[in-house]
Amino acid sequence: MRIILLGAPGSGKGTQARLIQDHFGIPQISTGDIFRKAIADGTPLGAEVEKYVSGGALVPDSLTIRLVRERLSHEDVRRGFVLDGFPRTIPQAKGIEEILAELGWELDAVVNIRVSEEVLVSRLALRRTCPACGMMYHMENRPPVSEGECDECKTALEVRADDSEDTVRKRLGVYLSQTTPLVEYFERTSRLVNIDGAGRVEEIFDNIRLELEERARGPGTSIDDKA
Ligand code: AMP
Repeated sequence: MRIILLGAPGSGKGTQARLIQDHFGIPQISTGDIFRKAIADGTPLGAEVEKYVSGGALVPDSLTIRLVRERLSHEDVRRGFVLDGFPRTIPQAKGIEEILAELGWELDAVVNIRVSEEVLVSRLALRRTCPACGMMYHMENRPPVSEGECDECKTALEVRADDSEDTVRKRLGVYLSQTTPLVEYFERTSRLVNIDGAGRVEEIFDNIRLELEERARGPGTSIDDKA
């Protein structure tokens, strides 16, 4: 199953990508995670992208597309993948279509998680992230079991550097201007699935899972056909 996840910062995209990864057994590919890791590890890629990421701006398309092309050449994506945070611009959308065409693969779905701007700002302000494993928490809706500590790996949780209020507003502005046109772009290809991103994580995931399972069964089939 090959999936693209669209959604503003704070829409719950990363959390849902992880649930899709675990349920369908396909790797989550988050360009944001790859960039943050490169910065933390002090690699040449990290040095190149640091100024964009810390300022809430987008990393240039050519570099980002190259990175995804390289990632999709790995063995673990043969059974599928869930792209989280890529594409974010029309050139990136064209880039992924080109890469998939070269590989002879098709997308199964583009899942668009929709959340109001008010909810996004509040979610990002209350978000805490594990710098080691990337797990995300929300101090009200999904707090860690032990305060300030990751449930999975016990690392001290952090506020992501680009979750400060100014940068959050910048990131939301970038999302609205650059990424919203992608929804229209993918609408034309008829693989777009709109999902209401307000509500409980589990409910949202159930809605995504049902849509994806329906797509996996293919057009013209219903649950009764498979019974
Ligand atoms: P995210 O974790 O997806 O919110 O991404 C964090 C930051 O990484 C973004 O604000 C951008 O600076 C950078 N980034 C992640 N994905 C992309 C992308 N597809 N294109 C350009 N920049 C990206």
